[in-house]
Amino acid sequence: MTCSGRAYADTAVIGGGIIGASIAYHLSRLGGGRVVLLERENLLGAGSTGRCAGGFRHQFSTEINIRLSLLSIPMILAFHEELGCPVDVHQDGYLFLLSRPEHAAAFRANVALQNRLGVPSEYLEPERISLLAPHVSAEGVLGGTYCARDGIGDPNGMTQGYAAAARRLGAGIRTGVAALGIRCARGKIEGVETTRGFLPCGTVVNAAGPHAREVASWAGVDLPVFPERRHVYTTFPFPEAPSNHLMVIDFATTFYFHRESGGVLMGMGDPDEPPSFNLKVDPDFLERVLEVGLQRCPALADASIHRAWTGLYEMSPDAHPILGRVGEVEGFYLANGFSGHGFQHAPAAGILVAEEILFGSARTLDISPLRLDRFRLHPPIRESNVV
Ligand SMILES: Cc1cc2nc3c(=O)[nH]c(=O)nc-3n(C[C@H](O)[C@H](O)[C@H](O)COP(=O)(O)OP(=O)(O)OC[C@H]3O[C@@H](n4cnc5c(N)ncnc54)[C@H](O)[C@@H]3O)c2cc1C
Repeated sequence: MTCSGRAYADTAVIGGGIIGASIAYHLSRLGGGRVVLLERENLLGAGSTGRCAGGFRHQFSTEINIRLSLLSIPMILAFHEELGCPVDVHQDGYLFLLSRPEHAAAFRANVALQNRLGVPSEYLEPERISLLAPHVSAEGVLGGTYCARDGIGDPNGMTQGYAAAARRLGAGIRTGVAALGIRCARGKIEGVETTRGFLPCGTVVNAAGPHAREVASWAGVDLPVFPERRHVYTTFPFPEAPSNHLMVIDFATTFYFHRESGGVLMGMGDPDEPPSFNLKVDPDFLERVLEVGLQRCPALADASIHRAWTGLYEMSPDAHPILGRVGEVEGFYLANGFSGHGFQHAPAAGILVAEEILFGSARTLDISPLRLDRFRLHPPIRESNVV
């Protein structure tokens, strides 16, 4: 088989972003047989992963997302030690700024939940916000939440590190090879059609990021994952740039920023953005970002824009990932719909999906609330802390 250089794979992973790379590594580490990762671009991490802001946080609103962070973040911090690959990590915290009473009330409840699960987040009055982050204007802010264990990591470095480690463990990492279809018979996976021929395998993992819906449709699975464009900007270095990598998020507007290469990286969601694969930079959007940015970080007045780019969030209906096996198709597994949090949850997703494949169900954390059938079986639990 020219695609894999071998006659078949036990598992084919479709998609070479951080999710696919993490799954390939964890499967190989746990003795998952012949693993082949297929990435249609010539480089790994060329999709959402390479366009990501790199934040990790415990500050979510649902127990399952907080538990995913509690599993993932120690793995991000120990990445160099575990995989022997140095990555750039700054654990300088996340600060949410809250200027509406309903948001302040919801975030107080989030902090109580986080604390119950062992996360040392705290609610801050405006005076403490100014002490913690003198570069931030707290005008009109009612309060904030802060967790010192949140931070900024290295999506590309970790993707390359996972792929290199998976390769050392025997996985095939095939870039420039697109999956074109999935062959199933009698409800079972038989293999993947690729641009280099047919790859027979008993297990397929969908790790195609914003393209996951199309990949799932090949197996006859209706997967509710939709792409949504997000803009990111960096500035050139400037003298008054924040001195550390604290991630600051103005929750009402979703404007966020942190130090990056002596300047600032910033972005903001657009509530009117329709689902699409549009990756064009809208030149008019910067003005809206700066309107909020200058209000919250007045020093930005001295900065000039260096780069602008866009990437796609892969949104699920309840803003939680969709993980694990699919009832209707034996051998088909999902790792999709991370809704803008897939970098930080990639270590957890890797280990949990690998366990699900190898042991029948994930052992480290119960992922049944994250399976696709939840949309049919339960009322949704929405993650409200999405920016
Ligand atoms: C602007 C922006 C900021 C973000 N900030 C954060 C953040 O601060 N923290 C955080 O945790 N997350 C953040 N995210 C989200 C995060 O980037 C994603 O959740 C994560 O990268 C998803 O990884 P993935 O591997 O699933 O997807 P991707 O990185 O998109 O990888 C999927 C891969 O599949 C490949 N592929 C698709 N179809 C096929 C096919 N048919 N055959 C072969 N290959 C195929 C694609 O080429 C792609 O490389 C952000 C995202 C964006 C866009």
